[in-house]
Amino acid sequence: MSNEELLRRHDAGGRARVAEAAAGLAAVPSLHVAVLTCMDCRIDEHALFGLEPGDVHVLRNAGGVVTDDVVRSLAISQRKLGTREVLIVAHTRCGMSTFTDDEFTEELAQHAGQVPSWRPQAFDDPATNVRRGMTRLRTDPFLPAEMQVRGFVLDIETFTLTEATTPA
Ligand SMILES: [Zn+2]
Repeated sequence: MSNEELLRRHDAGGRARVAEAAAGLAAVPSLHVAVLTCMDCRIDEHALFGLEPGDVHVLRNAGGVVTDDVVRSLAISQRKLGTREVLIVAHTRCGMSTFTDDEFTEELAQHAGQVPSWRPQAFDDPATNVRRGMTRLRTDPFLPAEMQVRGFVLDIETFTLTEATTPA
């Protein structure tokens, strides 16, 4: 099982490397930024933005979607752990563009005999997903009004970033 491989790598140097990197770090991110991105295994947000342990909070989920749980984590990040800005990064060729909400919900219902209480929140256009997320964060009553939010689409082949701007 691959879980066993992870535990082997933890013992074979992973634990020691992380302990050394985290030595002396505070729980408050030094750059006061929270990054929301997709769980896609090709994205290394620390390498992409030149980050070190202790610099930022990282939130990842399928698509880099602003879900209720992302709002929960950002409320805590912003109000209890000192972040002031949010960077949303969606990407091209995302798995979230390979199905629709209705298709996947039906698939789950077939499997489980019930529909989930949540929506998959699939999307065709990553920029649309980013704009929707920025709008939700800027209008959520539980997040600070002064919180700064920027959103980008990452090209998953060239790893260039294109800013997704919202209408003024
Ligand atoms: Zn993705």
